[in-house]
Amino acid sequence: METSALQGGEEVSLLNQTIEYDPDEILRREAMITLEKVKKALGTKFSTFVPLCTSCNSPIDLGWNFCTNCGAEIKNMKFEEEIAKCPNCNNYISDSWKHCAHCGAKLKEEEEAVLRCPNCKRPIQPEWIICPYCGYRLKRKP
Ligand SMILES: [Zn+2]
Ligand SMILES: [Zn+2]
Ligand SMILES: [Zn+2]
Repeated sequence: METSALQGGEEVSLLNQTIEYDPDEILRREAMITLEKVKKALGTKFSTFVPLCTSCNSPIDLGWNFCTNCGAEIKNMKFEEEIAKCPNCNNYISDSWKHCAHCGAKLKEEEEAVLRCPNCKRPIQPEWIICPYCGYRLKRKP
């Protein structure tokens, strides 16, 4: 449960601060890109997006194979928001899954392989330039 301690808005507002007040324009732009990635990384906790069945419009779960209301196959639906697919079975998957709910394929490496912020030790993505949790600058300008 590595994300349980996160307060959804906290790290995002830190990035927002950088976007609004940092005098470095390049950094501001980078922070904006990072913010999008952070929102994605926080997954359903932060996203308000709920996939809807494209044929009957009722809310569906990415763990289902078929819509429980109309029976349409979820795998073949096209959603407004980009949703990751399992590389093994091609079904839609959730960011938080370590294994695919459809076929059991391993989706994420174990914790040990995860990059961590040198300051707060929380998991980070290699492309991030600012740690969204503590504001530590992971990459400095050359
Ligand atoms: Zn349906
Ligand atoms: Zn799968
Ligand atoms: Zn940090």
